[in-house]
Amino acid sequence: MSQSGTAIAALGKRPLIVGGNHTLEIIQPYIQPIIQEYKLEPAQASYLPDCTESSLTKLRETVATHKADFIIGIGGGKALDTAKLLAHQCQISIVTIPTSGATCAAWTALSNIYSETSAFQYDVTLARCPDLLILDYSLIRTAPQRMLVAGIGDAIAKWYEASVSSGKSTATLTIAAVQQARILRDILLQKSTAALENDRGDDWREVVDATVLLAGVIGGIGGANCRTVAAHAVHNGLTHIQCAHHALHGEKVAYGILVQLRLEEMLQGNQLAVSARKQLLEFYTDIGLPQTLEDLGLGNISLSQLRQTAEVACQPNSDIHRLPFSVSPEQLMAAMVSTRELAETPVGREIPG
Ligand SMILES: [Zn+2]
Repeated sequence: MSQSGTAIAALGKRPLIVGGNHTLEIIQPYIQPIIQEYKLEPAQASYLPDCTESSLTKLRETVATHKADFIIGIGGGKALDTAKLLAHQCQISIVTIPTSGATCAAWTALSNIYSETSAFQYDVTLARCPDLLILDYSLIRTAPQRMLVAGIGDAIAKWYEASVSSGKSTATLTIAAVQQARILRDILLQKSTAALENDRGDDWREVVDATVLLAGVIGGIGGANCRTVAAHAVHNGLTHIQCAHHALHGEKVAYGILVQLRLEEMLQGNQLAVSARKQLLEFYTDIGLPQTLEDLGLGNISLSQLRQTAEVACQPNSDIHRLPFSVSPEQLMAAMVSTRELAETPVGREIPG
């Protein structure tokens, strides 16, 4: 941050700083010297309660009254999604400053919109990536470790989803994005445990670069061919039940990967999916990602809540339908309750490297 003043000031004079109440506080010692040195005239506003249409309406009014000429978005995925979409709607520049390793939102040209009760509604494709991204490791270290673990869950999903959604595409950039997603997976499998043991080590930096930067660039290169599939569809379904709200985005997505692999195994007879799931179960045990509904704190959800989740995840416009076979809510429910099931089917080959 201390080296970013010139780059930030190049975007305008009157920034609107958008974040959560906590991060707006954390950022002060970092941003104040820049404000003074470059004589910026900032205002700040909270994105809370969530990245919702009503938050955006309020923020657009603040942009107008402050005559803001660029946005500084600071925080996790939802704060950055709000800030990016605000800049897109107002057609002004945006700087993103992530404060946790739980998000690729600092880089991507996409925002997710939620309801007032934090249920996923839809995503919006933005005209471009943020004009400037500042990744300051000391800011990332202010976040609880659980955030980085969740970020690992969200980032590793890129491989399992992009390799399916890209289908049989032979387009150069699609292949490149999918291969980078594979590299991203391997980096996370190899380095996450060491990274989580020492946040001053090289492995920690590399894992943060992987979750925040590499995950973001894959979305950029892959574009429409590297979209989310069942893992994020399961996440989206879970956001519609209140009792799942304490689980982080990446935690729900990590669980969703296991559900997706279970679907590929149950409905397609895919044996590689069994090996992949077995590998992930071991990895999740090592780093503390949830493997089951119980691990997500949903051991007591009712059958109707499970059905509601599955029905949302199976809506006609859901990304779950990027799977090369059809999925019904009943089949999805069966997969959701058996993510740790490792019976009958012999586990053999490794997933192709
Ligand atoms: Zn995600």
